[in-house]
Amino acid sequence: MAITALTFDLDDTLWNNRPVLERAEASHYQWLSDALAAASPGVGSTFMAHYPLSAYQQRRADVARRFPLKRGDFTWIRERALFEMVEAYGLPRLQARLWAAHAIAHFLDLRHDLTPYPEVVAMLDTLRRRYRIAAITNGNADLNRLDLADHFSVMIAAGELHAPKPDPRAFLAALARLGAQPSRALHVGDSWREDVLPAQRLGMQVAWIDAKNEGPCELLPGVHRLTHVRELPALLDSRAF
Ligand SMILES: [Mg+2]
Repeated sequence: MAITALTFDLDDTLWNNRPVLERAEASHYQWLSDALAAASPGVGSTFMAHYPLSAYQQRRADVARRFPLKRGDFTWIRERALFEMVEAYGLPRLQARLWAAHAIAHFLDLRHDLTPYPEVVAMLDTLRRRYRIAAITNGNADLNRLDLADHFSVMIAAGELHAPKPDPRAFLAALARLGAQPSRALHVGDSWREDVLPAQRLGMQVAWIDAKNEGPCELLPGVHRLTHVRELPALLDSRAF
């Protein structure tokens, strides 16, 4: 059956996300520690000496456990963790909230300092003439901050829906807004668990970007293995979707 709509995962599908997140993670935390030290020069040990990066990561896991309804909303979880830690460091509650918000703004700036794979913009430009296109991400990348928004008619931030992939609701929301039946849509993503399985179970075709070569050898019906998103146009042509 002819494919009329495409849905795309973002992180590690349209760009290499690991270095982006590693830099954003380390830099905004260091920024917060430096800024707190500059604001209170008399305080003995720095925020980071008090709470190393591992304590921040632990606190995020703890926040996620205590606020299960916020699962998947990683930005909220980060900000809450920073707020709690800055308050515990000794700052008044309102100031702690402001510092946490400021650090998160810094994190989001760094998180959008990324470059899509070189083929991506031209590829999307061609595909959007033939297909309706949606983005479905669990992450906190905002396409409007990346100049990619024009290529997508629908954007679903699954974490903010509190239904992160593999929950099927993000896929159903994207399909509904694209006006596409699952059998007429193809999802493109790198995660076997979060992209391939839920899309395939809904009856979508799937282009699986298996860059790390870590999935099962036996593919499910409707799943097509690629090693890079640049191979997508050839797949779409060869299958006469
Ligand atoms: Mg991904």
